[in-house]
Amino acid sequence: MAAGGKYQRIAMMNNLTNLLDLDPAQLVAYCGELGEKPFRAKQLQRWIHQFGAADFNAMTDLAKSLRDKLATRAYIGAPSIISDHTSADGTRKWLVDVGQGNAVETVFIPEENRGTLCISTQAGCAVNCRFCSTGKQGFSRNLAVGEIIGQLWMAEFELRKTKGVEPGPKGERQITNVVMMGMGEPLLNFEPTVTALKLMLDDNAYGLSRRRVTLSTSGVVPMIDKLAQECPVALAVSLHASNDALRDGLVPLNKKYPLAELMAACKRYLEFAPRDFITFEYCMLDGVNDSDENARELIALVRSKGREVPCKFNLIPFNPFPESGLRRSDNARIKAFAQILMDAGIVTTIRKTRGDDIDAACGQLAGEVQDRTRVQERMKKMAEYQKKFGKNFGRIVEVST
Ligand code: SAH
Ligand code: SF4
Repeated sequence: MAAGGKYQRIAMMNNLTNLLDLDPAQLVAYCGELGEKPFRAKQLQRWIHQFGAADFNAMTDLAKSLRDKLATRAYIGAPSIISDHTSADGTRKWLVDVGQGNAVETVFIPEENRGTLCISTQAGCAVNCRFCSTGKQGFSRNLAVGEIIGQLWMAEFELRKTKGVEPGPKGERQITNVVMMGMGEPLLNFEPTVTALKLMLDDNAYGLSRRRVTLSTSGVVPMIDKLAQECPVALAVSLHASNDALRDGLVPLNKKYPLAELMAACKRYLEFAPRDFITFEYCMLDGVNDSDENARELIALVRSKGREVPCKFNLIPFNPFPESGLRRSDNARIKAFAQILMDAGIVTTIRKTRGDDIDAACGQLAGEVQDRTRVQERMKKMAEYQKKFGKNFGRIVEVST
């Protein structure tokens, strides 16, 4: 169970350390402060991240004295779950509370040979892309490490519980891939994001390979370079436009880091990346960026002499929301656009959008919970968040990386 809410506030008031906030090196240092050897940190880390333990008493191979010490100074607190929906196709979405009236979403997308978790890094987002409902709500705050990795921790062990899979390394891992494509711009919350990434990759935590962890960015150029140095994982870049004039209007950050700089940063990143291509995300907007000419311009952009960027394209049908004034390109247009890219030899996928599922999922909530008072409470909170983050808040997308 994700410990959070009231318990977490009490823990914070008492100045307890949330162990989910610590990366492997910090946990070693923390154990050092308690007079413990580094291998204790490894044991502790395995209990937390591989067994999903939130109770020190369950950590039976740690000395009783250490468990008692930890209980008075530390806690393991992931964000608490506000709602938990599973759609017909198995996609599961949690809305989690990150305090002060803020909530973010975490989405699990099961596929035949993998399970992908889409996690959030900020409550709201300051980049303010024209087609994004998160951006339209403005920036609320950065998530802490424990709130980012806590989404993975919570989801992995909730999924195991549902399927009856035992905790620990022997139990079948439910989440095999992570994409940082939820709410927020991860590279504008750099340190906590990288710390969380390190935990995802660590063998004594989740042990995911770099190729199976993808960070999506709107193009914060200096931070792309920093990521290459500190923790190169697979990179997705939200392109959405084939020239600067168009991109300036869709992704305001483009005025600061225009396409030529962004392409150069992508090329530099590939020297360190675990994959030999960048994934370009491209949101298909009717009559805005979806013409044959735009597709040809994109090909020229990624192939321009001296700065060719090996890449794949992932076309995302726009998820409309009322204030945007934008429309989704129709399927025939998306296919024709994809064909032009593919004819040029660029691997192109079209992301399957399942946003329409969400209203149904909201309805399911009432059916799932027996206690009517709690239903009312949760539905009220849900409505509040939808008001705050937009009607389209619970957007579910199928990710092909
Ligand atoms: N901030 C990061 C990661 C989160 S957004 C980024 O922008 O890359 C994840 C993806 O969803 C991005 O490619 C984003 O452009 C896309 N997206 C945002 N709003 C959308 C909408 N209304 N319809 C379809 N895709 C959208
Ligand atoms: Fe922020 Fe990404 Fe939305 Fe742009 S698309 S506003 S960067 S979350």
